Amino acid sequence: MKRTFFTVLFGIIISVSAFAKTSFEIVALGVNGGVIDGNITSYLIRSTDENSYLALDAGTLLPGIEKAAAKGAFKNIAVPADSPLTLEGYVFKNAVKGYFISHGHLDHVSGLVISSTDDSKKNIYALQSVVDVLTNNYFNWKTWPNFSTSGEGFKLGQYTYKVLDPGKETAIEGTSLFGAALPLSHSNYESSMILVRKNKDYFAFFGDTGPDTVEKSTHLDTVWKTLGPKVKSKNLKGIIIEVSYQNGIADKDLFGHLTPEWLLKELQNLEKYSGGKGSLKGLNVIISHVKPTLNKNTDIRSSILGQLKNGNTLGVNFIMLDQGDSMEF
Ligand SMILES: [Zn+2]
Ligand SMILES: [Zn+2]
Repeated sequence: MKRTFFTVLFGIIISVSAFAKTSFEIVALGVNGGVIDGNITSYLIRSTDENSYLALDAGTLLPGIEKAAAKGAFKNIAVPADSPLTLEGYVFKNAVKGYFISHGHLDHVSGLVISSTDDSKKNIYALQSVVDVLTNNYFNWKTWPNFSTSGEGFKLGQYTYKVLDPGKETAIEGTSLFGAALPLSHSNYESSMILVRKNKDYFAFFGDTGPDTVEKSTHLDTVWKTLGPKVKSKNLKGIIIEVSYQNGIADKDLFGHLTPEWLLKELQNLEKYSGGKGSLKGLNVIISHVKPTLNKNTDIRSSILGQLKNGNTLGVNFIMLDQGDSMEF
């Protein structure tokens, strides 16, 4: 009798946890903020009930896909038997349906440019200012052939720019995801974040950004105001945001980036809009864009994570992904 009771109880626990369904999967293709090519900002996001991804920036694509495949991230993808492609090639060409580009800096677009010769027809989602940079500075037949459907010279027509109006949701073609971008201030240069939605659930990806106080901007404040109610209702499953440098950098040397101290300060503002003290408890915050150091005996990633955890009075769940890691939220 007792045994039966525990068996039934155990069965219930197992089925409950099986139903505690996640909404998104993130695959880290590139996690650093520059310097060492081959591992710079790019993440894939998909809804866990489909196999189509949106790329969030594209600093590193194929080396990241290769690493992620080796770590078993694409077990959900079945390459059709009649496809000539490797798993990596199939993920890149077929499973990634489009790109969100946060801003035009090279460490966020170099993978897109360099792999474009072997890519397939896709949309690039970005604010107008970012589309202008791609059009004028990359796909222009000078830096690289014009793989887009607009801009200079003969148009190879592989990429269609989808201009995102700030705050207005757009369907991400080939997926069941929607995305809305909001501008960020990155040393007086326009960067942006995208709020990805699947049904009632959200995930936010931030391009490079400085703190509002240093940037003399209200862009992050507007973003926190937007995210607050979604934190409150537990529909914001996580965010990816940059921390480029350790604490101790003078504000004038930030060049539009965050330190642990500044991120914690900004998150206090989000807490204010999310229902006040304790409202960010358990919020998943993935730290990205750490600028690698070439100095001996310096583990800058652990040092930044340590500084964040030391100042973490908010109860936020700080996460650092390595290249090729995947995680569900
Ligand atoms: Zn960057
Ligand atoms: Zn940048």
